[in-house]
Amino acid sequence: MKVYAFPRGGITFEDPTVPPKDASVVAFLPGISVIPLAQHTGSKAQPVVSVGDYVKEGMLIGRGKGPLSANVHAPVPGKVIRMVSWEMAGGTTNDALVIRMEGSFEKLGKREERYPWEALAPRDLQWLIAEYGIVEMEGEGCPLADVLASLGSVQEDSITLVVRCVFDDPWLVADYVVCQERLKAVVEGSIIMSRASGVSRIVYAVSHKERNLGELLLAESKSWDIPASLVLVGSRYPQRNRRELELVLREYEKKEGLALGALLIQGPATLAAIYDAIRLKKPILDRYIAVGGSAVKTPQVMKVRIGTRIGDIFAECGGLVKEPQRIAFGSPLLGRTVVDLDEPVIKTSYAVIALLKGQIGGTVTRSCISCGECRTVCPVGLDPEAVFKQINGPEQAVADRVAECHGCGCCEVVCPSRLPLSTTIVQAASRRN
Ligand code: SF4
Ligand code: SF4
Repeated sequence: MKVYAFPRGGITFEDPTVPPKDASVVAFLPGISVIPLAQHTGSKAQPVVSVGDYVKEGMLIGRGKGPLSANVHAPVPGKVIRMVSWEMAGGTTNDALVIRMEGSFEKLGKREERYPWEALAPRDLQWLIAEYGIVEMEGEGCPLADVLASLGSVQEDSITLVVRCVFDDPWLVADYVVCQERLKAVVEGSIIMSRASGVSRIVYAVSHKERNLGELLLAESKSWDIPASLVLVGSRYPQRNRRELELVLREYEKKEGLALGALLIQGPATLAAIYDAIRLKKPILDRYIAVGGSAVKTPQVMKVRIGTRIGDIFAECGGLVKEPQRIAFGSPLLGRTVVDLDEPVIKTSYAVIALLKGQIGGTVTRSCISCGECRTVCPVGLDPEAVFKQINGPEQAVADRVAECHGCGCCEVVCPSRLPLSTTIVQAASRRN
């Protein structure tokens, strides 16, 4: 079977401090949960409960308001004991409800009711997806209701749903475990998504190293009446980025003589969440995350309740072997540095890492030694060093090139002089927009 890979640049990642991918561990339920009212790209949800109120597991506690905002639900039953203004890295703030766990669970430990959805109209499915606050869990948290609304202008039956199982960064291991442990939910979630959005075909885009997984996904989808196919893609980073993925899918489309139309790309965690919302009537109460890094005693993939604080998560992994140099949500490459161990897991968290000094490398920048590594790895064909140098100059040509960068970070990772190449280029691009 042909493997479709983007033509130039990129990097191959390996990291021995990533947790094993054979199974997940269910984390203890948190006694105290911190539930941010913005776990999505738009404005904060408006709280619909007050301090002193009792909430049930899965109950609506924040109502999304305006574009790109999403509903927020209580992951555990209990009492709202505080509302806090939550300071995030980078100086932004978020409001959060603090819940002390009390009382009995509505969902956990109960027999799962399965609700028929097959007779529901697309509009009903869209409404339910919005009500349950489902967001794109592999990205920045764009609410799916907004994604579906944006498809309104695309002609029905000219959309392909791409199920992205591309593991170009070893820190995506939690997504892999979701595929393994919740394969039926991922597939049925993709069918529901297709019905809700007028999709006419599903393509499972799977890293070629995980061909078996791809074949299992395809076999499971055969029991549904929508055309589906498997395409094996490269495992080099940034293969999962929209630009690189779309490049290879267009090549696949041409080779196979297909007409894929518009591409709706979604990942396994999001599709499993759609299944939970529609088939089980359950909002996002937990998610799989990878916990690891050189400072973590026992790295593992964990199924964690939303709102669990990362200090509690590290404690469950046997604690930290030494004081870490850096703690972050996400991978070492693209992660967001965390300043407080009380920061909670949210819908979009996929990894929590604690790194010792040796895993970070030096932080002192030096002059460029003209090694050319940044040019070699840039998938767009930019000369990151030249763009970086000229960034504050007046040349329009540089401005145009800055806009081509899609912020994959490859150039910065390989630079032996530790120059902040992609960080500077991305900032310049956003200033010029
Ligand atoms: S210049 Fe932009 S696109 Fe090229 S490697 Fe750097 S971050 Fe990636
Ligand atoms: S990788 Fe760094 S040191 Fe090498 S050419 Fe690029 S900017 Fe210069």
